[in-house]
Amino acid sequence: MKKRNSYKFYSLLLIFCLAIGGITYSCGPSGGGGKNGTPPPPVAYWNNNTPKVNGDSAYAFVKKQVDFGPRVPNSEAHVKCGDYFLEQFKAYGWKVEAQSFKAKRYDDVELDSRNIIASYKAPNATRTILLAAHWDARFVADKDSTDTKKPIDGANDGASGVAVLMELARTVSQAKVKPTVNIDIVLFDSEDQGYPNFIKEQTKQDTWCLGSQYWAKNNDTNYWYGILLDMVGAKGAKFYKEGYSVRTAKGVVNDLWQVAAKIGTNGYFIGLNSPEIVDDHVYVNKIKSVPMADIIEFDPNDPATYFAKYHHTHKDNIDIIDKETLKAVGQTVLQYVYNTFGSQEQADAFQKAAQEKAKPAAK
Ligand SMILES: [Zn+2]
Repeated sequence: MKKRNSYKFYSLLLIFCLAIGGITYSCGPSGGGGKNGTPPPPVAYWNNNTPKVNGDSAYAFVKKQVDFGPRVPNSEAHVKCGDYFLEQFKAYGWKVEAQSFKAKRYDDVELDSRNIIASYKAPNATRTILLAAHWDARFVADKDSTDTKKPIDGANDGASGVAVLMELARTVSQAKVKPTVNIDIVLFDSEDQGYPNFIKEQTKQDTWCLGSQYWAKNNDTNYWYGILLDMVGAKGAKFYKEGYSVRTAKGVVNDLWQVAAKIGTNGYFIGLNSPEIVDDHVYVNKIKSVPMADIIEFDPNDPATYFAKYHHTHKDNIDIIDKETLKAVGQTVLQYVYNTFGSQEQADAFQKAAQEKAKPAAK
């Protein structure tokens, strides 16, 4: 789960927005962009050679993770699955690194954790983008009515975001046309080990997103922008413009949703805001000032809980995963990445060529 910020205020605002209807991102918890509000994708450029992602392959990556068992830190499944990621990204020709650390859980239990970092280098690129998801599974099913203290499969909450990123790495590795921008894929560990609902006294702050907190404090790369994927594989999922992303990465959010409209994945990407939530992008933004959009499922029928019914229950298993959803998210993100120039020189050259073309022909 991700705790919500000022949940009541934002959900009232959301209900208000929905009630008056027809208004999209001009209404909602948007501050219109902070210091990182409107960055990147500079010139309107569309890469027609963006390769196609494969939904079956993305689905297989979800299944593979689930088959290890719940990837809860300090478990064997967790170690094995982490090793699998390292091998897999390496096989795609990406540079891989495991950033090991001890995360301290809310109850002071030490979690042996690893952030998995896979890097793609584009020739002559000076810009690097960040694509991320969390890979750990929740250690309790604290929103379930049975087996509350057993870990969940986390097929959607954890495995789906990772699966889409693995599919992007695979697709790029096989593509004839490569991205022009450097890409770091970061799989954050220990995101979902925060306070269980059944613990009444919750005195500690920041008990979620331990991997991204550690990573952000120990990384000195300058990122052009970031995209976080969380719960991106459920059948019929809807992705609203998440409030914190809108406030701090408005340009990225709006451009991503425009890409979705253009490639026809806007049945998934809805042009309405959802309330703010705390997820890895918040720490990446606060600690490193990277404008980062969170693509995360929102249940509009239940804004009070934000999440769909399966969330943090044993229903979050392979049965709710749909390859079409995975594919829609993957293709939208990949198109956006391919539309991103790897350097200012490339952006300038494109703009210059466009201006030349627009000039009336000499008589
Ligand atoms: Zn979760």
